[in-house]
Amino acid sequence: MRNVDPEVFLVARPQLDYDALAAYLTEVGGSSWLERLDQGHLDNDALNLAEFAGRLCYRSWEPGLNPNVTRVRTDQDAYLANILSSAHGSVLEHVTFSFALHNVSRVLTHELVRHRPGAAISQESLRFVRLNDIPFWFPDWATADPELMARATAMLEQMEQFQVWMAGHFGLDSEGLPFHEKKHKTSFMRRFAPDGVATGLLWSANIRTLRHTIEARTDPGAEEEIRLLFGKIGDLMRAEAPALFGDYTVQDGAWIPRWRKV
Ligand SMILES: Cc1cc2nc3c(=O)[nH]c(=O)nc-3n(C[C@H](O)[C@H](O)[C@H](O)COP(=O)(O)OP(=O)(O)OC[C@H]3O[C@@H](n4cnc5c(N)ncnc54)[C@H](O)[C@@H]3O)c2cc1C
Repeated sequence: MRNVDPEVFLVARPQLDYDALAAYLTEVGGSSWLERLDQGHLDNDALNLAEFAGRLCYRSWEPGLNPNVTRVRTDQDAYLANILSSAHGSVLEHVTFSFALHNVSRVLTHELVRHRPGAAISQESLRFVRLNDIPFWFPDWATADPELMARATAMLEQMEQFQVWMAGHFGLDSEGLPFHEKKHKTSFMRRFAPDGVATGLLWSANIRTLRHTIEARTDPGAEEEIRLLFGKIGDLMRAEAPALFGDYTVQDGAWIPRWRKV
């Protein structure tokens, strides 16, 4: 039995092609927006992409391109705050981040996959990947309870021994065993792993989904491990895209947005 902690690795973020943006903006007469970006914000592609999507909707690159637009916000933070406050959420769907979630339990992944729109998931297959041991996360309050830990550890070690015994019993390492047979038996064997077994997945989500899921899964009523994980995701996102995650207040681990349901 291996003691592990749930971890998050932010592995992908948006990247803009500024030459293509410039070519498009020349076409539509919006080059002054890019010049404004150059003066300060060009370094944050996520925020720039959200702003680009929003301005495209109203041709609000600069006053006059749309006769209905006589003035435009020139400050990006103020512009994006207005997107949030007016719940113009679709523009946030273009901005996607990918997270490798490592050593998270099947308890957690089962809850996470309930969030459907705006998310992409590739989960470690315990039909293909054989369990040699049972990595497991214990919260601090559990590790502080010696009798609980002794009993839990003994049970997990017994489960591990059963995994190893089954692998031998089914001859999974025998030469020439067809792969479909390994897969068949590996899938049977995973039934004897606990829900708490640590595994992993790649989770990609757009800003709209991230905002909603961070709020829902750090709520005091949410499950302890997923609260911990989404607190970490909230911290990462606030650093990555402050103008789109700076409106939250964090109270006892709960991320409460100023603008809900964008
Ligand atoms: C504290 C807590 C306890 C929970 N307990 C249980 C439980 O006991 N049993 C259980 O089965 N589940 C439970 N859930 C899961 C919960 O019911 C949702 O399925 C899950 O949180 C996904 O969130 P969501 O419904 O907001 O959907 P998401 O997939 O995150 O979608 C985001 C939003 O899009 C809209 N949307 C998405 N799909 C649809 C649709 N088909 N129709 C209309 N609008 C849609 C909704 O506005 C939704 O809020 C719990 C969740 C939490 C946070």
